[in-house]
Amino acid sequence: MSYDYRVIVGGLMLLIGLGLFTRTILGRLRVLQAAKPETRWDLVGARVKKLLTVGVGQSKMFKEPASGLLHAFTFWGFCILGIRTTQLFVQAFAPGFEVCAAFQEPYDFLKDITEFVVLVAILGFVWRRLVVKPARIAYSGEALLILSFIGGLMVTDFLYDGAHFASLNQLDRLAMAPIGGMVGKAFAGSGLSPTALHCIAETNYLIHLAIVLTFLNLLPLSKHFHVITSLPNVFLSKLEPKGALSFVPDIEKALEEEKPLGLSKVEDLSWKQVLDLFTCTECGRCEVNCPAWNTDKPLNPKMIILDLRDHVYAEQKAGRIGAPVAVSGEGELPALIGQVNVDAIWSCTTCRSCSEQCPVMIEHVDKILDIRRHLVMTRNEYSKEIGLTLKNIENKSNPWGMASGKRGDWAKGLDIPTLEDKPDAEYLYYVGCAGSFDDRAKEITLATIKILRHAGVSFAILGKKEKCTGDSARRIGNEYLFQEMAKSNIEQWQEGGVKKIITTCPHCFNTIANEYPQLGGNFEVVHHSVLFPRLIAEGKIQLKDGEAQRIIFHDSCYMGRHNDVYDEPRAALRAIPGAEIVEIERSQKLGMCCGAGGSRMFMEEKIGTRINDLRVEQLMEQKPQVIASSCPFCMTMLSDGVGAKDLRDSVKTKDIAELIADRLVEKPAAPQAVQADA
Ligand code: SF4
Ligand code: SF4
Repeated sequence: MSYDYRVIVGGLMLLIGLGLFTRTILGRLRVLQAAKPETRWDLVGARVKKLLTVGVGQSKMFKEPASGLLHAFTFWGFCILGIRTTQLFVQAFAPGFEVCAAFQEPYDFLKDITEFVVLVAILGFVWRRLVVKPARIAYSGEALLILSFIGGLMVTDFLYDGAHFASLNQLDRLAMAPIGGMVGKAFAGSGLSPTALHCIAETNYLIHLAIVLTFLNLLPLSKHFHVITSLPNVFLSKLEPKGALSFVPDIEKALEEEKPLGLSKVEDLSWKQVLDLFTCTECGRCEVNCPAWNTDKPLNPKMIILDLRDHVYAEQKAGRIGAPVAVSGEGELPALIGQVNVDAIWSCTTCRSCSEQCPVMIEHVDKILDIRRHLVMTRNEYSKEIGLTLKNIENKSNPWGMASGKRGDWAKGLDIPTLEDKPDAEYLYYVGCAGSFDDRAKEITLATIKILRHAGVSFAILGKKEKCTGDSARRIGNEYLFQEMAKSNIEQWQEGGVKKIITTCPHCFNTIANEYPQLGGNFEVVHHSVLFPRLIAEGKIQLKDGEAQRIIFHDSCYMGRHNDVYDEPRAALRAIPGAEIVEIERSQKLGMCCGAGGSRMFMEEKIGTRINDLRVEQLMEQKPQVIASSCPFCMTMLSDGVGAKDLRDSVKTKDIAELIADRLVEKPAAPQAVQADA
């Protein structure tokens, strides 16, 4: 049998296939090269771990076990079959070449089984797309084409092996390959001549190589680019605290020089943000888990990524990447922002549900917030209510515009020491704007004080000297205002010798713990939902019997997905005698936002249905008597939702601090060393 033609045909195919592929990839690399720098090469050990769990281990895929299994088998199959593909290409020039010559029989077995499993997985995918049709998966001819390519690769390899060894009368060579062996026996018993079998084998060989090269060239031109980019994207994913937004250095200077800030054009994207765009698999997991999308807002996190990606591709095609950027006219949005719906940008609650679900670690929130930064700091384009919130934060140091001098009024007559009174206090209890001004949140503050006193915690407050953390300003996009406020707080706290801070607001917690270090503020911060179970475990909080209560806990996004605090609040609730804790499917990592994050707390929800109403509906599935939370914003949204649904008689909304404070064993009041005028 002659294989001489392979050198010419195989060589030509390789030359053309790899040449075209290299050209496309170099184009994509040029886009990455033109993007802004970003450091993602640090902490290699942690990155390797992430690569092994999320990338190789496909951990995020198993959140949906059926499709996760199909995808994992296909991915692992590709890894194993890469050896076979290499072998087939080399055989164009060296027909007898075997990559695994020393382990031929075990590899034959592994390859054969893998090809069979991948084929079954591909049929499973086709079934899901055409018959099951999950809501998050849109019909895609491209996806079906790629699936048929992968299936074709498996089938042509079985046919090649079977016909090849049958033509050589060497079926014993397939002894360890059950499927290939069966195909070989079928060919051997077909009565075809060795020459005909050779022709069948060689045709399948060439079709196999052609599919590999066509597939390879389609990858960077389609959503299947993720086959190439997902492992690097996972390896290079964000390792900083998830809740920390990116820091803008030298912002004062940039504003003075009137430099455009935030994200408005392709060149504003960092190379990692571009890699994110290249990597989207269009799986729709982010879309179906987005509270905004689920309540008919114009925000679809998948489409944000795809719109930005399409714009990058269009700019690349037009040769504009790396070229000087045209300044857009008055009132006209720059092309990149024009690509996405601005209402979508303001609909985001920054809940991170999208990124949490994304199997390839795409970060959505940073891009949305970067566009907000551009709208707010460069273009001054935002609604009146956002303008008012920013003005209130700037002038009154709280988003509601309450008189800053009244900040400590809630503590009047309660003998709570301020930091000036008690400079050696172990903790600063940072109460926050809601806890200081909002009537419902003030009840949570008082419950917290009661528990801290009961447990003998040494603490002090700032009283009227307390200022807003700047979290809301940052989430709106006013990075400058945030940095100014953060610097002022850090200076005040460092001067006061503060080392440890207690918060009752997850937004304050996240900002102080995860974002203040960007400005040199390093404090040990603990949220009350973490401190209380610790104090209970240490025996410092003692709880008495009371009525049985069926409680459901609503995870705040900023303690849950942003800071991975899920078990602690549940442990605190379980410690309450008579408490029965129930769960729904959408809890913990899958929990849905109340609608207040990302400064949505200060924006009217005018589009679609209300997120808090939907959240209350979900929580009521388990018919709880109490909806517990650990965030003053969640409390407002859930209480409003319960009211809107006329459920006030059947369910109470309580902070975990209130539930614990209600059950404290009475202790003789400890004398207060300091009489404070907060
Ligand atoms: S952060 Fe939340 S609201 Fe914003 S896009 Fe993601 S899922 Fe939707
Ligand atoms: S961003 Fe992630 S979760 Fe959303 S569609 Fe793309 S790959 Fe899927």
